[in-house]
Amino acid sequence: MILLVEDEAPIRDMVRFALSRAGMEMLDAETVQQAEGLLITRRPDLILLDWMLPDEDGLVLLRRLRKDKDKQDIPVIMLTARAGEEDKIKGLEIGADDYITKPFSPPELIARIKAVLRRATGADTSGKLQAGRLSLHPGTRLVQCDGLEISLGPTEYRLLVFLLSHTGRVYSRGQLLDYVWQNVREREERTVDVSIRRLRKALAPHACDVMIRTVRGAGYSLSVKGVDGA
Ligand code: CA
Repeated sequence: MILLVEDEAPIRDMVRFALSRAGMEMLDAETVQQAEGLLITRRPDLILLDWMLPDEDGLVLLRRLRKDKDKQDIPVIMLTARAGEEDKIKGLEIGADDYITKPFSPPELIARIKAVLRRATGADTSGKLQAGRLSLHPGTRLVQCDGLEISLGPTEYRLLVFLLSHTGRVYSRGQLLDYVWQNVREREERTVDVSIRRLRKALAPHACDVMIRTVRGAGYSLSVKGVDGA
């Protein structure tokens, strides 16, 4: 069963029609509160979650789900009218499994749902971010180097999600503050250096720290060059 959390009736109707044609059962909620009410007694196979809802942000529900031992493994696809890269990263770092930008077509929706369900059952791991020997799975927040788990603080995790999503590109400290830190009050570029240092330290035992490159006068970049002969 798929749970749709969406306040716009036309989208609910469209999704209901698409899912029923694909032979999938659907429950729907218009608010975060309604969704949480349903989740007390029902366990969906997947949640389609709108970003902007009347009572709270969809991200708030996503964050609560990911902290809930019984529900944290339910796959979530965010539905949103926002197409900004930073929004996508925000959703993924909180643990969304995928992200669909409105307007979307029924075939696209069904294909994405099927892909996420396949991944959730372990048949396909293509949702993970990977560079060389380093991998990160946004759904489970598992970071690994050569299959060995790496434990990171929340800021370093967000920073790595961002760098792995944009391998090879160089970002200035100011850009990283915008994309990764977003809501900090003091915009000190030193903050970025501190987190880069922590990230390298966590990766160093696996010799993956060299992937985080300092580009003199420009900023930082994650590169697989020089690692694994790539
Ligand atoms: Ca909405």
